[in-house]
Amino acid sequence: MEIVSSISEMVQWSEEQRRRGRTIGFVPTMGALHDGHVSLLSESARDNDATVLSIFVNPTQFNESSDFDSYPRTWTADAALAEHNNVSLIFSPTAAEMYPSDGPTAVVPATLAHTMEGRHRPGHFSGVATIVLKLLNIVGPNCLYLGLKDFQQVAVLRAMVADLNVRVRVVEVPTVRDADGLALSSRNERLTEKDRFAARVLYRALRRAKELHLAGEHEASRLRDAALAVLAAEPRCELEYLEIVDSDTLQELSRVATDATVCVAARFGQVRLIDNIQLST
Ligand code: AMP
Repeated sequence: MEIVSSISEMVQWSEEQRRRGRTIGFVPTMGALHDGHVSLLSESARDNDATVLSIFVNPTQFNESSDFDSYPRTWTADAALAEHNNVSLIFSPTAAEMYPSDGPTAVVPATLAHTMEGRHRPGHFSGVATIVLKLLNIVGPNCLYLGLKDFQQVAVLRAMVADLNVRVRVVEVPTVRDADGLALSSRNERLTEKDRFAARVLYRALRRAKELHLAGEHEASRLRDAALAVLAAEPRCELEYLEIVDSDTLQELSRVATDATVCVAARFGQVRLIDNIQLST
């Protein structure tokens, strides 16, 4: 496994792969790797001749400096995990390498970015779209692997790839959860023991909405109220939003007639978590 931090070396390596007719799968991350990331790496290794993993804690997508400062950084464990999961190369540039100039060009994401995470984290999706486009231009992969844990992020990046004619295939990977239902997230490491226990409420609430929907309830307000009641029973949960949206347009629904997704964001102590569940129609 190779480790590269300069853009020019990364570009050279990818050019060499292409010259040899090898396909490249790309998994962008911010490190602190867990089994959710491993799932993306496995899909990439299955579909491609080579897998590039990027590890870059991107400053421009954090809207709270305390979140950026306290974001877990576990380089040694990450490198070992990558080695064991068929990663061909880790690209881990510095912020100076990625952002050499002040006031650089940035991507304006599609209007899909205006709701939910976009409303609560101003500038977040512009930061995400810009760094992912830069990484795609540097790595030049055939396939890009994204986790559905970040449901709106997938929608925003899919739209960017389509709207800006980026030549890459986007592959969506299902959310990996702990045995008790909590979606794996690098931020889970920062939860206190009590908050880690309390955070299980997120998946319970999502499941409640899904069960009710499977039982025949289609009114979004009733599904939402049922999920909110589950969350309200957990005093450590500070809800930011819970929305039932059309899975393609991300517009809030009053009635679930199309493919819909329930999205939730909440704080447990200092840690903000998101999760979602698809309601099959
Ligand atoms: P991050 O390092 O948190 O920026 O995530 C890097 C990639 O891993 C993104 O595409 C995430 O959606 C994906 N990811 C994070 N957590 C999970 C999970 N629990 N299951 C599947 N994919 C995930």
